[in-house]
Amino acid sequence: MAEPLLSVADLHAFYGESHALHGMNFDIAAGEVVTLLGRNGAGKTTTLKSIMGVLGQRRGSIRYQGQELIGLSSNAIARRGIAWCPEERGIFASLDVEENLMLPPTVRPGGMSLDEIFTLFPNLKERLRSQGTKLSGGEQQMLAIARILRTGATLLLLDEPTEGLAPVIIQQIGRVIAALKERGFTILLVEQNFRFAATVADRHYVVEHGTVVDMIENRNLAQHLDRLRERLGV
Ligand code: ATP
Repeated sequence: MAEPLLSVADLHAFYGESHALHGMNFDIAAGEVVTLLGRNGAGKTTTLKSIMGVLGQRRGSIRYQGQELIGLSSNAIARRGIAWCPEERGIFASLDVEENLMLPPTVRPGGMSLDEIFTLFPNLKERLRSQGTKLSGGEQQMLAIARILRTGATLLLLDEPTEGLAPVIIQQIGRVIAALKERGFTILLVEQNFRFAATVADRHYVVEHGTVVDMIENRNLAQHLDRLRERLGV
């Protein structure tokens, strides 16, 4: 693998007394789409929160472009070019689509223009004046991804973007991820839906009990499907 863009080594994370990550190790190269797969409670979301610096109690190392992120504030991490799209999506329900797209601060040069956003998400252009609450689940998810693209981030942390969505919308999300990869974005995707993960990712890390227990190249997935199913309990 080329020099990693992001390198997580022996990462431990805590919620108060509760020890949630027990030495996570994984790497992502620039331009890759990589998933963290695992059952509920395995530690996937906690890993994204740790990278983004929204979880204070961490130990170990998270190196991005060769520089240590542990110790930096989440703002400083965002300015390095990392953005997180949480499972709850983080859009403003009382604001319309355009207002939601105007709010995210550009933290780096290269934040996506509205024109480019609407090329990627044509349905958002049609819904420009619709309030967040009036959007379907799929539209809310698209808006949530669009908002983080406004910031100029190039490493995107996406937490279960397909959760609760219909198959046709999941396919649309898959096309967006492919288009973002084509544009050179690096994506770390948390998923429980491994069938979807297989359509978009280059590699998969399997997480159990706060640690990485397996790495599977997507091109070899067919050979390892039984192993993966057993690990995920599906
Ligand atoms: P899910 O898909 O259910 O979100 P996950 O793999 O993302 O699962 P995490 O949410 O990272 O898992 O949770 C990892 C562990 O940390 C679990 O044992 C969970 O109970 C615990 N945990 C998560 N959030 C908190 C919190 N706010 N306070 C205390 N413990 C937490």
